[in-house]
Amino acid sequence: MQTATPRFSQGADAQGQFGTFGGRFVAESLMPLILELEQAFNTAMAEPGFLAELDRFQAEFVGRPSPLYFAERLTALYGGAKIYFKREELNHTGAHKINNCIGQILLARRMGKTRIIAETGAGMHGVATATVAARFGLQCVVYMGATDIERQRDNVARMRLLGAEIVPVTSGTGTLKDAMNEALRDWVTNIDDTFYLIGTVAGPHPYPTMVREFQAVIGRETRQQMLDREGRLPDSLVACIGGGSNAMGLFHAFLDDATVRMIGVEAAGEGLKSGKHAASLKGGFAGVLHGNRTYLLQDDDGQITDAHSISAGLDYPGIGPEHAWLHEQGRVEYTAIDDKQALEAFHTCCRQEGIIPALETAHALAEVSRLAPQLPADHLMVVCLSGRGDKDMPTVLRLMEEQA
Ligand SMILES: *Cc1c(COP(=O)(O)O)cnc(C)c1O
Repeated sequence: MQTATPRFSQGADAQGQFGTFGGRFVAESLMPLILELEQAFNTAMAEPGFLAELDRFQAEFVGRPSPLYFAERLTALYGGAKIYFKREELNHTGAHKINNCIGQILLARRMGKTRIIAETGAGMHGVATATVAARFGLQCVVYMGATDIERQRDNVARMRLLGAEIVPVTSGTGTLKDAMNEALRDWVTNIDDTFYLIGTVAGPHPYPTMVREFQAVIGRETRQQMLDREGRLPDSLVACIGGGSNAMGLFHAFLDDATVRMIGVEAAGEGLKSGKHAASLKGGFAGVLHGNRTYLLQDDDGQITDAHSISAGLDYPGIGPEHAWLHEQGRVEYTAIDDKQALEAFHTCCRQEGIIPALETAHALAEVSRLAPQLPADHLMVVCLSGRGDKDMPTVLRLMEEQA
């Protein structure tokens, strides 16, 4: 008897689990809220009116569809696979995060919520959240580690310009994981009017599914654009992974196409052996954080440890539970790229293509530089250009001065 082809795109079960990962590990008082959110999300996604409104904002406010661009000079340089960029860096606010923020804010408004809360590490998700909150005239409170506030002054200024209130978090190490805990605490105490806008495919169910659905537009567009341009599906997809939302967004529309190879790229920081990295799959083990079970960076006592990477946006100490499952299933390959490799790919992209990528994105580009030369010229490879590098100028300039 033949066994059925596994359907990797099927997603979470009724408990919000991807195999043994995901779920909803939250305080009992949060349960009704989580269920209300799940219900509202499912209802909205089945309603043509909601989807039409979402499409309109994606087109007019975000600037979708983003182009699929043939990176001709990079292709010639590596001398192998034909490389395409999915240009998410051209979106309003300069990255893919806004795709998800638009979806969630429309949902929040439908649910009658008037106050938006979010957590942010590098500040990019905070800026995208503050942007949509301003657009819809909703109050916005962003939890941010005190250490991160010091490190990310520009984004703090942007959020304030957009009308958001920044709440410094001093518990723990004053970084992203502490901000996440504070945001969850706020949500429990302000149940009636507050919507928690999570920025990646993490958190308790339904967040990993909801964020993936709002980001899946990346892969749907890529699929159509590649069919239009090359008359067939791509052979491989490459994306960087912080929590994993731009990667899930690109991968999802192709998960059941067995011929499409997928590679998720974590940040190896100063190297996996150094302990200073952000590679939850390659250098962590399973545990519970932020309301779900997944691979996490933790010490031997199960305490969550801080992530390290040249790119602040990959500094998430976990990875979305759907990735943990796809890893276990062997459907998606996961690799890790260190700071030095990412920086080299960053400079190459600037010089060869006239595009300054985000340092997060440079991790995916470094993986492309490793893979493309080994592949034939008719291999079609798509890399998600998750964001632009303007925000990284201070980091890059400092590194260039140190090396000079
Ligand atoms: C936040 C961010 C990432 C990492 O987040 P994911 O949820 O893994 O996509 C990657 N690239 C850019 C430009 C970002 O701002």
